[in-house]
Amino acid sequence: MHDEVSVERLNEHTWVMTEGTGRGARHCYLLEGKEQAAVIDTGLGDMDVVGLAASLTDRRLLAVNSHGHLDHIGRNHDFERVYMHPADEAVFQEHSSYEMRRAYLTGRFRSKGFSQEQIASEEIQDYIERLSSLPRRENRLALRDGQQIDLGGRKLKAIHTPGHTRGSVCILDENYGAVFTGDSLCEQGILLNFTHSAPVEVYLDSMRRLEKEAGGFSALYPGHQKIALPVDWIRDYRMCAEAIVSGGEEDAEPKGQKEQQKAQETEQVSCLGRAVIRWRSDQLRQSSPC
Ligand SMILES: [Zn+2]
Ligand SMILES: [Zn+2]
Repeated sequence: MHDEVSVERLNEHTWVMTEGTGRGARHCYLLEGKEQAAVIDTGLGDMDVVGLAASLTDRRLLAVNSHGHLDHIGRNHDFERVYMHPADEAVFQEHSSYEMRRAYLTGRFRSKGFSQEQIASEEIQDYIERLSSLPRRENRLALRDGQQIDLGGRKLKAIHTPGHTRGSVCILDENYGAVFTGDSLCEQGILLNFTHSAPVEVYLDSMRRLEKEAGGFSALYPGHQKIALPVDWIRDYRMCAEAIVSGGEEDAEPKGQKEQQKAQETEQVSCLGRAVIRWRSDQLRQSSPC
């Protein structure tokens, strides 16, 4: 069993390589410069990202992780160099573990409606085992806010956009006018409800910053779902985060202990314009316990 793979050429020197189909599909982008080529995100691990990229370009390859989640780091081990923001190192380690990957992949089949018997089949167990036991390699290089990666006549700039994870980055590609957003901005909503997500207030700062930096750019290329999105989607996400943060003032009224605990456990969904943000009431402000 293998995930379906598709490749689309976005322009002369840029491709999207997609692993899987539908809502859960993972986009990996190949950006070719004169001297080297960058792959932004390496999928869940089934797609031969390096092999595919090498069939499209002969430049020396490097990888950039938009963040450390398992559906973005799968083929990191095939690269000599992988750039990632250091704030996601703990997430990366957790999401590289056999147990975590196995539990996630099994849960994924369950949520797709597969029965216990079907999941126990040799075909599915082989797939889960293979993607749970991907090798690890110490090939990561720190990618910090504002850092540039020169591909030769094509410079990529990292913008640290904590929110979805604390080490999430968006990559600006001035030559192409594109912003690669990972899971910091997707068509069908973003998740700030993980234990390793940053508070909504921090995500709001990230969107304010991104809105400023991406002003002259033409399109957004997320890690999942529809591509490309107009750049003004950033404004919707910024405004949605603003509404959550300002609405949160009312929630700050003193409450009984039970009520407080309930509020902390409550997951929220907020929508504004085209933006959908899932967040937790105990992860609203910077001072909140995380
Ligand atoms: Zn993610
Ligand atoms: Zn993802």
